[in-house]
Amino acid sequence: LDPTGDSFSSEEKDIERALRPLSFDDFAGQDKILENLDVFVKAANQRGEALDHTLLHGPPGLGKTTLAHILSNELNSNIKVTSGPVIDKPGDLAGLLTNLEPRDVLFIDEIHRLSSVIEEYLYSAMEDYKIDIMIESGPNARSVQIELNPFTLIGATTRSGLLTSPMRARFGISNRLEYYSTELLSDIIQRSAAILNVPISLEAAIEIAGRSRGTPRIANALLRRIRDFAQIKGSGKIDIEIVKYGLKALNVDAYGLDDMDNKILTTIIDKFKGGPVGLSTLATAVSENAETIEEVYEPFLIQKGFIHRTPRGRQVTELAFSHLGKMPSKGNSLF
Ligand code: ATP
Repeated sequence: LDPTGDSFSSEEKDIERALRPLSFDDFAGQDKILENLDVFVKAANQRGEALDHTLLHGPPGLGKTTLAHILSNELNSNIKVTSGPVIDKPGDLAGLLTNLEPRDVLFIDEIHRLSSVIEEYLYSAMEDYKIDIMIESGPNARSVQIELNPFTLIGATTRSGLLTSPMRARFGISNRLEYYSTELLSDIIQRSAAILNVPISLEAAIEIAGRSRGTPRIANALLRRIRDFAQIKGSGKIDIEIVKYGLKALNVDAYGLDDMDNKILTTIIDKFKGGPVGLSTLATAVSENAETIEEVYEPFLIQKGFIHRTPRGRQVTELAFSHLGKMPSKGNSLF
């Protein structure tokens, strides 16, 4: 259950695609963001213009890619999908941009990983729908300007803190996706179960939802695994018994915490007596990048009440100690 989804097989990717909502109506949650986007899309459609460039940020698996596809559907336009590290040379970018029809969407995942050279090229494309490209080399080298069709760049990033400020400034619309409540995740699970044609009880859906780390991608992944258990070890129907059996077999944490979440909490407790510990010290101790901890892991741990931020650094709460079955040491400022 890799939250990035990178370890999924291609068959799993196909299923994930089948479960992907296609319109604003199918998309659960993020109400405020959707309401606004709906207005911006309708206005752009009425004026026959491209939607303003849109930045979607937030932890992995919350629906950034899904929303980009929905936006292009609602704009009645095509979408080209790429990602920051894939665009290597200015020519790659020019190829993508010159193939866009008016009002098309170019979706760049992991936009914080674009090289600075490519970013420079993107600025004029975003601002003036023009791109200057160097052709030939040596004494014949010259720059030609190519006019582009008006398009919408949708950038997605889990790490908005790594985006340069000129890049950020070029997005007219910017939204941060938030973790989903158990209730919303249970709705998503029931919808997915219906698409996968497997009966599920409400109680079972809620149990899976509570273990999904606030993340639809994890909820769907768990559902698929539990479906396997229901088929082979149960009656085919997903009820609370088979969910409990499956979650135990999968070794899923009671709160849905993943390995890195647990590592962060254990490290703060074992190496720093529960904290407070500064972000960069913590990052070194768990061998993870400080921004990734801050933007990807910590928001969920804070939301669930495992960690809080103090002026002197990160500190675990009583809940973290009890969840990990540890005792606070003497002299811990918490207790
Ligand atoms: P990443 O940035 O890591 O690619 P993401 O935020 O783009 O992640 P998606 O790939 O869009 O995440 O979503 C993961 C899966 O979760 C999708 O296949 C989709 O089925 C499901 N999903 C995401 N958001 C929703 C939602 N609001 N309602 C229903 N299903 C959702």
